Amino acid sequence: MRSSIKRVLVIGLGLIGGSLAKALRQRRYCQTVVGYDRNAEELEAGLALGVIDEAASDLCEAVRSADLVVLAVPVKATDAVLCEIRPALRPETLLTDVGSTKNNVVAAARSIFGELPPTFVPGHPIAGSEKSGVAAADARLFERHKVILTPTETSSAAATLAVARMWQSTGAEVLQMEVGRHDEVLAATSHLPHMLAFSLVDTLAAEAQSTDIFRYAAGGFRDFTRIAASDPTMWHDICLANRDAILGQIDRFAAGVEKLRQAIASGDSQAMLGIFTRAKASRDHFS
Ligand code: NAD
Repeated sequence: MRSSIKRVLVIGLGLIGGSLAKALRQRRYCQTVVGYDRNAEELEAGLALGVIDEAASDLCEAVRSADLVVLAVPVKATDAVLCEIRPALRPETLLTDVGSTKNNVVAAARSIFGELPPTFVPGHPIAGSEKSGVAAADARLFERHKVILTPTETSSAAATLAVARMWQSTGAEVLQMEVGRHDEVLAATSHLPHMLAFSLVDTLAAEAQSTDIFRYAAGGFRDFTRIAASDPTMWHDICLANRDAILGQIDRFAAGVEKLRQAIASGDSQAMLGIFTRAKASRDHFS
């Protein structure tokens, strides 16, 4: 199946789309990597930086001639882009995406296609950075990182295998997960930490204005808060798309912090050491 993929079209040439396009080009995964972005400057930069072979000016025409189409736009743009490209998708054209949330992408596809096409295999690379835009594209971004595919009940085995092979060609390890499980897991491991980093920096920033406390921040603070520099609009969209799961994780975390607060307030050394020791053991285990 892989050899039949000659043209890949990446829609949305930002950090993730640009990094994927660049990796596919460098690894010679296919003959031609085509890019499309509604921002003409990003598209031109993608061409100038060697991220893509060709820049598409007509989206539907580019979709018609592609063997594999990758949606790499912000999750809230998924509906509009799917709606626009639907008439141009050939029945055999593979379709995937890179969105950080999956329930909403599948729901958007369902509302646009009715029955989901067997060639549609949603995905999410668990790699990224706090940067945005094609200038930050990195061909090695996915190396030794996980990509989660969330095939639907109608995704064909051949399409799932082909999308997996595309990601494997970038050096990524591909896993499969049910859509709902993906959103639950990511709410805990990615969305909650981002909420904590944003909230911590925002809370301290109010104080920082008067006392400039960030001048005294050490490495630990930098490590913990790096992700607070992530794109605010992207995180706004993720919060709305995965609202219930994120709220559930915030509530769980708030209960955990309250337990720690009580242990500190009452000088309960056993409780404090219990929390810190269990956390250290878990962290040591996965690092
Ligand atoms: P980005 O802002 O760097 O790039 C998005 C690009 O999409 C921009 O160039 C923008 O002009 C373009 N775009 C927006 N609407 C469009 C439309 N309607 N038609 C065509 N192009 C359009 O964002 P990114 O970080 O690359 O994120 C892209 C996707 O990847 C998102 O769905 C995000 O959830 C997912 N993702 C991001 C990360 C990360 O760490 N940044 C990690 C994994 C997955």
